Amino acid sequence: MIVEMRTGASRQEIDAVVEKAKTLQLGVQMNLGTDKVVVALLGGHTGQLAPDLFAVLPGVERVTRIMKPYKLSSREVKRQDTIVNVGGVEIGGKRIVVMAGPCAVESEKQLMEAARIVKGAGATVLRGGAFKPRTSPFSFQGLEEVGLALLARVRQEFNMPVITEVVDPHEVAVVAKSADILQIGSRNMQNFTLLTSVGKSKWPAVLKRGFSCTITEWLTAADYILNEGNTELVLCERGIRTFEDTTRFSLDIGAIPVLKRASHLPVIVDPSHAAGHHDLVPALAKAAVAAGADGLLIEVHPNPAEALVDGLQSLNPAAFERLMAELRPIAESVGRSI
Ligand code: PEP
Ligand code: MN
Repeated sequence: MIVEMRTGASRQEIDAVVEKAKTLQLGVQMNLGTDKVVVALLGGHTGQLAPDLFAVLPGVERVTRIMKPYKLSSREVKRQDTIVNVGGVEIGGKRIVVMAGPCAVESEKQLMEAARIVKGAGATVLRGGAFKPRTSPFSFQGLEEVGLALLARVRQEFNMPVITEVVDPHEVAVVAKSADILQIGSRNMQNFTLLTSVGKSKWPAVLKRGFSCTITEWLTAADYILNEGNTELVLCERGIRTFEDTTRFSLDIGAIPVLKRASHLPVIVDPSHAAGHHDLVPALAKAAVAAGADGLLIEVHPNPAEALVDGLQSLNPAAFERLMAELRPIAESVGRSI
């Protein structure tokens, strides 16, 4: 931790910082500049200390941590890439995993049809929301338990792993019965009770990025799951809120290489919720693969015009098939396959 004193801080103010460091059993290294004093605090447990302990002292301008706040998700803790196995499908290996299906499970017919289409085009995991965390309480909230039962049936029929969202910490076990991998949605990225519950379940999970969260906050949230002993975790970039309003969210392509450097966890991308419009989805999906994503989570509906949720951003069967064909050479060019 680095404590920067204000220009002209008094000897007493500097001494108070040094004294406090000593009472906390920290080593001190002084850097006496011509008009500014910087105090470096050293010691194994500085990462656990609140910077405010020093920021509150008179004469202190700024306190900065050197150690990253996230630990278990960091490459410093684990150098090798994590590979997550979901019903026989590996996420984080050479093969790029495409998870596709409707935003929401609407009916048996719709889900069966969607599974047939996405599996036929080469997707290996079926997506479908049974619990939908909607911005408005008046919007369709999903088929809930009925939706879970449909997912379980279609999973068996098509022999295809399923991803679905869990929103309630008390329902993790119930949702896990119908899902091979749990989805934690953007709005719940910092729902720490839910993260802890998913961690305890040891069930594979995808942690979507909170649309107003930094990468550091995201990895720190991931630590909640890893800290419970659940190492089967995948990160999903899905766009963040910026001043730009021509897309639904701004897809942070830069997050992919940043995460690859900072973390050992697999990274997938959801181009659908970022784009907000089906026309824009293929370009974002291709950019994600080119930038090193380990997988994609794409909304596909047998008939987007009739979708109960997110029809505008859902690919129709022909568009999804075309996208899969276009992704193959891009994957190969970065040493991957689809
Ligand atoms: C979803 O994938 O169904 C979803 C609701 O996405 P997000 O949590 O990223 O908004
Ligand atoms: Mn959706």
